[in-house]
Amino acid sequence: MPELFIAGEWRSAAAGGTRDVMNPFDGQVFEVVDEAAAQDAEAAVLAARTAFDEGPWTRTPVAERAALLNRVADLLQRDREQIARTETLDTGKTLAESRIDVDDVTAVFRYYVREGVVEVDRTVDVGRPEVVSRVVHHPVGVCTLIAPWNYPLLQISWKVAPALVAGNTVVLKPSEVTPLTTVHLVRLLEEAGAPPGVVNLVLGAGGAVGPALTSHPAVDLVSFTGGLATGRAIAKAAADTVKRVTVELGGKNPNIVFADVDLDVAVDTVLTGVFLHSGQVCSAGTRLIVEESVADELVAGVVERARRIRFGNGLEEGVESGPLVSAQHRDKVEGYVALGLQEGARLLTGGRRPDAPELQRGFFLEPTVFDDCDRSMRIVQEETFGPILTVERFRTEEEAVFLGNDTTYGLAGAVQTLDVERGERVAAGLRHGTVWINDFGPYVPEAEWGGQRMSGNGRELGPAGLAEYRETKHVWRTTRPAAPGWFQG
Ligand code: NAD
Repeated sequence: MPELFIAGEWRSAAAGGTRDVMNPFDGQVFEVVDEAAAQDAEAAVLAARTAFDEGPWTRTPVAERAALLNRVADLLQRDREQIARTETLDTGKTLAESRIDVDDVTAVFRYYVREGVVEVDRTVDVGRPEVVSRVVHHPVGVCTLIAPWNYPLLQISWKVAPALVAGNTVVLKPSEVTPLTTVHLVRLLEEAGAPPGVVNLVLGAGGAVGPALTSHPAVDLVSFTGGLATGRAIAKAAADTVKRVTVELGGKNPNIVFADVDLDVAVDTVLTGVFLHSGQVCSAGTRLIVEESVADELVAGVVERARRIRFGNGLEEGVESGPLVSAQHRDKVEGYVALGLQEGARLLTGGRRPDAPELQRGFFLEPTVFDDCDRSMRIVQEETFGPILTVERFRTEEEAVFLGNDTTYGLAGAVQTLDVERGERVAAGLRHGTVWINDFGPYVPEAEWGGQRMSGNGRELGPAGLAEYRETKHVWRTTRPAAPGWFQG
């Protein structure tokens, strides 16, 4: 079955390209999908343009657009198990995580059903009785939505749901590494009744389809989630035609632990924060910044628990962690392990591939903890996007906040302390888009997500995540037309 979806039709790539999709647990190809080239991407952009300019979608009452999202949410739950299995096969993450992803995505669609119909237009009192002044909102136009491989369905859904309820037309571009659940989502959007051209899907390598998606004059907005280097390239590509650009990039996220915490709870929080999905999480808590007096005990606890994480096939019950997504990505993460050793960090555990015979074909890497780290090290500053925890120690609250902000990124951070005021003070001082106090990781569709500094700009989720997809227009109407009379000649 063809996997590109353009102008309401499922098509193969015009040039006949295909790509193998591989299971990172065993390195085996389990699916072959169509692989678009530039011409397919351009066709998708033009289909979205036509649908926006001519189609009924932008003029469809918002309640009807919201109803479509609601049907998609129902369909996601109908297909929950199938989608979750596909996500696990594609990414290697555990089935438990994939099921949570499908539920989270459903919640995002339902949230934008509610938020999409909230009135945001307003009248402005300009102090002149003959003037009616209104601020109204319109869809932006053709939006290209580009997603990464770590949360394939989730990341694309954070974009699709608000874009559609706001009345835009879209071109979806999932990561070429993990395209399958996005194909499923587009089938559900079609089944739910999205008119032809409103939703288009292009599968392919970023370098091949990227230029059409990010610089074509027919595109009005680019929403991108992925790595810093790609985000920079996309912002530049979109600059010539002054598109709206939202980039959600990486992070180097601090987890600050004060000595007053319950250490067992803190160990568990640190462990989950960094090693979930093998650290392939943009908000992973990769930098442990711990008060000196409890550092040894806390780190020993994390190391002991890290060694007990159960690896395996994400489809099997009881497995706690899958592999990294690809051989190439594991090479990159292993490069950071070598770099950490070279930089003088002390390896306490991990850094190697597990010995178990059943794991040899997959791209596994043991959870890795480096102690004696300092801010000058690249493993402390760069996103490794793998299961690597670095440990730094602090003595004062000021130092903790300084270290927490000592990164060019600003995606997420956390502070663990039982002192409520101190927790709030540290949270206020951290320059990150999300801050957790006595927790690590939770988010809800109602609250904005996004980066400060080099973690990106713009927001996803919440009302701001919808505002990204709306144009603002001021309409000024004079009820008693009169000559302005400025020029006297
Ligand atoms: P990536 O930047 O390599 O790729 C992301 C997407 O961009 C893919 O679909 C890719 O095909 C596409 N792409 C690549 N080059 C392109 C180009 N020139 N033009 C257009 N598209 C192009 O990122 P990745 O390796 O897939 O994902 C990992 C990164 O994503 C990490 O840095 C992670 O922190 C980040 N991420 C951020 C968030 C967030 O919310 N801030 C969430 C998840 C992941």
